[in-house]
Amino acid sequence: NLGRLAATALDRLGDYPSLFFEGNWHTSADIHTRADRVSAGLRDLGVAPGDRVVVMMANCPEVFVSYHAIWRAGAVVAPAIFLMTVPELRHVMVDSGAVAVIATKELLPKVLPAAEGLGLKVIVAGAEAMAGVVDFAELESAAAMDYLDVGVDGLAALLYTGGTTGRSKGVPLTHGHLSEGAGAARSVTYVSGITRGVLALPLAHSFGILVTVGGMHATEPPVTALQRWFDAPGWLALAQQHRAQAAALVPSMLAMLLAQPLEDYDLAELRFLSCGAAPLPAALAREFQRRVPSAVVMEGYGCTETAGIISATPPSAPRPGTVGKPVPGIELRLLDLDGKEVAAGQEGEIVVRGPNVMAGYWGTSQEGPAAVVQGWFATGDIGRLDEDGYLSIVDRKKDLIIRGGYNVFPRDVEDVLLAHPAVASAAVVGREDPRLGEEVVAFVALRPGAAATEEELIAHAKAHLSATKYPREIHVVQAIPLTSVGKVDRKKLRQQVRDA
Ligand code: ATP
Repeated sequence: NLGRLAATALDRLGDYPSLFFEGNWHTSADIHTRADRVSAGLRDLGVAPGDRVVVMMANCPEVFVSYHAIWRAGAVVAPAIFLMTVPELRHVMVDSGAVAVIATKELLPKVLPAAEGLGLKVIVAGAEAMAGVVDFAELESAAAMDYLDVGVDGLAALLYTGGTTGRSKGVPLTHGHLSEGAGAARSVTYVSGITRGVLALPLAHSFGILVTVGGMHATEPPVTALQRWFDAPGWLALAQQHRAQAAALVPSMLAMLLAQPLEDYDLAELRFLSCGAAPLPAALAREFQRRVPSAVVMEGYGCTETAGIISATPPSAPRPGTVGKPVPGIELRLLDLDGKEVAAGQEGEIVVRGPNVMAGYWGTSQEGPAAVVQGWFATGDIGRLDEDGYLSIVDRKKDLIIRGGYNVFPRDVEDVLLAHPAVASAAVVGREDPRLGEEVVAFVALRPGAAATEEELIAHAKAHLSATKYPREIHVVQAIPLTSVGKVDRKKLRQQVRDA
């Protein structure tokens, strides 16, 4: 049970200042005591075991306090990323059937219209008491109660997927799923002696939660410098100030760091960078490693449905371009279109089973064929295993472009574009084409100060890709649109090419 796990970790660490946020230190005991009280306050408000509570906040200590408080009340955290729009947030509230929402004051303009007419309690941190809204500080004045243990099979979180391929789906995860996932990830990636980290991943996303729950397993007191949201210069300053040894990032964050004068910062103690949640172009990892030689860039692969982790590259044996080996406990198969296992080196859909894999979707997302059959979950990702058991992600099944009968994986084309010295980021989508079925269309953003024409980029792609694959249409844009978790927003790009 995560309530117990957190409580023991916090007890063990006690008065150790473990969290640094916007100029202030917070000890583990502070968080522990506040969570105890808020937990009692939530129960006074009528939150019962199994009830869902939406938490919508940018990163801040109150996110930890809220998660721990909800778990101690035996209730379920339903995190909402602070960048969500009103309809996205309403979808989470309605689909989860939440009884309450905890948010920070500046998010009320989204929370109040989203919650309209749903009858859930709105709890707000950082604001004076207002009519119709419960003050978070008031919850903190409740007298602490013992926590309610719902057991390892009790629901801990209802996470909503990134919505990269369609409507975001509700993924129910138990205390067991989260704890097993984080424990397995940690067992692969643990490096002794690393205690100081910078964290800017949204704590509302499965990757952020994985890192947070992983921290509860820590044996040496960890110190986390937390960023409200990622911004590259702020991140670098924080990493330097705290002599960070480790950090977790998504690839778009890594790309933004590389656009900064990294050499101006003292990052000599940075040893370990864990990257995941979206494809990490090998060129980015290599460039980071060249410019910050002390750091090893590790890659992890997972999805919300597997509590954030399926495989990871061990720091002692990273293999750039792969996502490492399945973490302990995960069984992995690669299947062809007929559901037959493919041979080593062949591409197939990644299907997984293990103690961190959800039992099935929640709410409206349960409609249609079962997502999990006899414990096996089909990820929708195409992968390949080499003879040593290292997994590579080819692409998502849904992103595959079929041009004139030939398969084109956007990632192959993006990797070629990224190898051009002027290109900072690239994204490729398909556009309906009456003759070919689909045509390959690329979007690229250039590095600061760099120049390249669309014709030049097409010629570069043509020189490195077969005639069936290279994009005939490339748009140079200011920035590639990203989703709220920092993934390429292909839905938006497809819409753009449809409307053009
Ligand atoms: P939705 O399921 O709503 O379309 P989403 O798939 O983005 O959104 P997540 O669960 O956040 O939701 O993302 C999981 C997906 O992210 C994986 O299925 C995979 O496609 C991609 N992914 C994660 N890590 C990696 C990685 N290291 N390399 C390539 N792709 C990755």
